[in-house]
Amino acid sequence: MVDKLKKIIRDIHDFPKKGIIFKDITTLLRDPLSYQKTVDLLAHRYISKKIDLVVGIEARGFIVGAALAYKLGAGVVLVRKAGKLPYKTHKETYDLEYGSDTLEIHSDAIEKGQNVLIADDLLATGGTVSAVIKLIEKMGGNIIECAFLSELEFLNGKEKLSPYSVFSLVKF
Ligand code: AMP
Repeated sequence: MVDKLKKIIRDIHDFPKKGIIFKDITTLLRDPLSYQKTVDLLAHRYISKKIDLVVGIEARGFIVGAALAYKLGAGVVLVRKAGKLPYKTHKETYDLEYGSDTLEIHSDAIEKGQNVLIADDLLATGGTVSAVIKLIEKMGGNIIECAFLSELEFLNGKEKLSPYSVFSLVKF
């Protein structure tokens, strides 16, 4: 099944810029069985882990994270790009290849000691998730794992996130 998921993710060459192979998951999401399997396989891994909250990262992380939270009977917390969340926030700025970006979380979204699972569609360099980890640490959340639909292993994002545990369904 994981092989099928790997095949159905579409490669888009030179998007969003030259030299990048973008892993387009819309082809997986529009296939009912593939989307269902993705969520079921992830949920199976965490069902006994007493997850209180799934933190989804804008925007594709919401699609994975929200369905996963529903299956786990957990709540959903949104991490969004700067300026999108309406209430008081904690912010974390991180470096991109060119320039930087800022992520935000509502300051009351996570209570100290709550078991948190981070969800996103893809792990590349790990910069995005490192910023999310910092936000959650600030609030005292207990990070159980970082879960991804897929991972670009050659970029070694996993090492960057150490000692936090990382799981991805599909490896490229
Ligand atoms: P990074 O911070 O380098 O781990 O990048 C991860 C974030 O950027 C994720 O939210 C991904 O959705 C997106 N991303 C980075 N590289 C790719 C890629 N080659 N294909 C699809 N999404 C990507």
